[in-house]
Order: sequence, then structure tokens, then C-alpha cells
Amino acid sequence: MDNNRQDRKEEKMAAYNVKSMKADEFISHEEILETLAYAEENKHNVDLIRQIMAKAKPVRKGSETTCAGLTHREAAVLLACDIPEIVEEMYQLAEEIKLAFYGNRIVLFAPLYLSNYCVNGCLYCPYHMKNKNIPRKKLTQEEVKQEVIALQDMGHKRLAIEAGEHPTENPIEYILECIKTIYSIKHKNGAIRRVNVNIAATTVENYRKLKEAGIGTYILFQETYHRENYEYLHPTGPKSDYCYHTEAMDRAMTGGIDDVGLGVLYGLDNYMYEFVGQLMHAEHLEAVFGVGPHTISVPRVKPADDIDPNDFDNSLTDELFEKIIACIRIAVPYTGMIISTRESEEVRKKALSIGISQISGASRTSVGGYTETDRPHDTEQFDVSDQRSLDEVIHWLMDMGYIPSFCTACYREGRTGDRFMSLCKTGQIQNCCHPNALMTLSEFLSDYASEETRELGMKLIEKELETIPKENVRRVAREHIFDITHSDKRDFYF
Ligand code: SAM
Repeated sequence: MDNNRQDRKEEKMAAYNVKSMKADEFISHEEILETLAYAEENKHNVDLIRQIMAKAKPVRKGSETTCAGLTHREAAVLLACDIPEIVEEMYQLAEEIKLAFYGNRIVLFAPLYLSNYCVNGCLYCPYHMKNKNIPRKKLTQEEVKQEVIALQDMGHKRLAIEAGEHPTENPIEYILECIKTIYSIKHKNGAIRRVNVNIAATTVENYRKLKEAGIGTYILFQETYHRENYEYLHPTGPKSDYCYHTEAMDRAMTGGIDDVGLGVLYGLDNYMYEFVGQLMHAEHLEAVFGVGPHTISVPRVKPADDIDPNDFDNSLTDELFEKIIACIRIAVPYTGMIISTRESEEVRKKALSIGISQISGASRTSVGGYTETDRPHDTEQFDVSDQRSLDEVIHWLMDMGYIPSFCTACYREGRTGDRFMSLCKTGQIQNCCHPNALMTLSEFLSDYASEETRELGMKLIEKELETIPKENVRRVAREHIFDITHSDKRDFYF
């Protein structure tokens, strides 16, 4: 290589800086392209792939289990590999990692759409400003209350609130008021104990206000990490500013929000590019704030009013989608992974075994949808593939040997950010998560489940109680479950 070329290469490499606060530097286009070339070169390099997988394996020392995770370059090689036997080994490794940190628990949540007013022009989203087909709607506080009662009556304890971006219809004050309303409603034995928030990128000051309002995770999907495509897909509105959007998590964490959730909208750009960009984002958060993403979501573009996913030519097969999930789990072992009802029962089933730890159930993606008897379509953000009731989803999970969990204890006990991660890393989280899952499941079974689901669930709880290693924890959990099933006492947690 001549000196000039070497210099140029170093210049480009210097642009990548994991600790930089500039989007173009911590998500460096050149670094992604070089990573993709490296992955392509090595995708059949079985020795290297085995070394990478060996590095990612859980290591047990006494009662502690740790995982090294992978760099974006290493993970890209795994994702590029298309040797069937090795992909099968990746699935096994992903499952092993998931079991090590999340056990067989699956956390349940539901989205709550507050408003579909939006000033943005996102080409993939039916809420885009120019869409005149859909009625615009924003919940009043009374309507928020009715939606929350309907969600509580299903058994939900954890919500993700969603809203379009609109400075006058959905200002931060409106979002804060809705959060206050949601937390205030105690209907029968119900309560919403954790509100996660998915609203557009905002200022440090507004993130601080969300933190003070007691939110759980701040979720913001990047949509695509490919800057040029991002700018094409977001032609108008505040969201068209790629850097402001990409740097949002830094502002959220600066504003005191410990738990942030990343996501790519798969289908918009080349999945390899997105995967590498997302891992670089996770590495950036870890490098700057000492804590990686609390969750990673894996949404795919779905049909919606005036949106045809075929207009984006990067749609993925289910097999590729599953491989992405497994590779994220291997690369970012401690993160919670979320799959929504955008996906079918079949895809969700496979996804659960290879990395997913949280799912939504009985979702309505329309504004005010939970108070309607039939699922309304007119204000829907996207088509829901998995349309089962929460009771059916819970039954299905237990049939497959999972423990559905409605636990929200960690953030209420201050186990957020690096505290959550270090507990998770040392495997300690299992000492509280497992009994908490059983206690919250028993709440669901007592208050909301069908006869058949209750029967199946109580048997599962009985069996799972026996596996709690600490004798005193087992005894206390058993006592609390007795109280839950024989009285109106609720909300016990470790
Ligand atoms: N308005 C907020 C923002 O701009 O980030 C977020 C709320 S939006 C209701 C939630 C997410 O839904 C978006 O970030 C996008 O990834 C996803 N979404 C939009 N259109 C979709 C579609 N047609 N299919 C699947 N997901 C979609």
C-alpha cells in the first residue's frame, strides 16, 4: 500500500470514535463498510467463527456467570455466516446465553397509543403528516383512564406509551400528564407499575422531566443507521435531522434516564448494515456511560394505511430475521430483547428460544383501541400479526415451559442502568427475578385468567417454586403466593 493510501485509510479510521458524542463518528459509515467487507471475507472461515463463538460462551465461576459479548466486527462475521450447521450452533449458543441471564421468564407488556398527530414525514409510517386517510386522534385524560382500565382488566402491569411527534398536540406536558394519569389508576386489583416511553427524540431537559415522572425505559427506534437512506426516508419534520435523532440516547442518559431501548426498523435498509450500526450504538453507550442498552427491539416494517412494505426492497425472510435475533443475543448478552405483535405466533415462538425476553400481548396499535370491542383499524399504526388475547398468550407461553412475568420490581427498587447490568452480569438478578415472576404470574392467574390457564399456571408455579435455591426466599415467595391467591393483597416483590 502506498503512503498516501495508507494515510487516507488512517484518516478514515480516525473518524470512527466510539466515545465521540457526534453521531457520524460513533456510527461511522466507513467503519461499517469495512466491517461488512471483513464479514464477507470471513463468513466461511470456520476456525475464526468457532473462536468468536467460544469467546461469547457463558463462563461460570461459582454462582456467577459472565459473558464477554462480541465486538461489532466479530458479530458481523457470525451474521454473515451461512453454513447451516454453524447457524444451528449459533442458535444453541444464543439459547444458552439467554437461559443464563433471563432463565425461562418472559416479561409481558402492551403498547398504549396516546396520539397519532405527527408533523414528520416518515415514508414507512401511516402517521406521516401528509396522510389524509386516517382520522387524527389524541386521548383525553378521561380516555387515557378508560384505556388503562381496559388494559388492567386484561392483566397488564407494564405499558409502553407511543405518540407521534407534534409540538402543539403532543408537547412534553401532555405526555407527562398522561404518565401521571396512568400511574394514578387503581382499578380493582389492577395497577400499571411501569410506563416505558416511546416518543420522538427530545431535549435533555425533557428527558429529565420524563425521568422525574418515573418512567421505566426510554425507547427510541433508530429506524435506519444508514444516514443517506435515513434522510431519504425522513424527508420532512424534526425527525429528518439524523444526528439529533441518533444522539438522542446520549441526551436521555445525560438527563438521568438509566435505561434506554434501541431498535432498528428492519426492512428499511440492508440488514447487515443495520446490525453493525446498532452494535456500534450499543458499544458507544457502554463506552460513554458505562452501561449498554437496557433493551433492543427488533421491529420489521408491516403493512399499514398507505404503507406497503414491498415499497422498501430490504425485507427479510423469517430465517434471516431469526439469525439476527440470535446474533444480537450473542453479541449483547445482558440486554433485554423485545418482539412485538408485528410478528406472528410462529415467528415469536422461534424468537423466544433464541434470545427474546419480552413480548407484547393483545396489542392494539390504534389510538383508543383497547376500549373498542372489535379491533379498530382506522388509526392503527401497523397491522398486528399476533391477534390472540392476553390469556391465550399466557397459556401458550406456559405450555412451552416459559414463566410469563409481569414483574416491574427492578426499576422500582432502583435496580436500573449499571446496577441492573452488574446484577445481571453476576447472575444475581435471578435470585429476585424468578420469585418475582412467580408472584406476579399468580396475580394474573387469580385476577384475570381463564379457568384452564389458572389451572395450568398454578401447577407451573408449584413446580417452579421448588427450584428457588435459597430456602428463605422460597418460603417467603410461597407465603406471598398464598396471600395473593387467598386475599386481595398484591404487589409483593424482592
Ligand atoms: N414518534 C416516535 C418517533 O418518531 O420515534 C415513536 C413512536 S412510533 C409510534 C413507534 C415506532 O413504530 C417507530 O419508531 C417505527 O419504527 C415503528 N413503525 C412505524 N411505522 C411502522 C410500520 N409500518 N410497520 C412497523 N413499524 C412501524
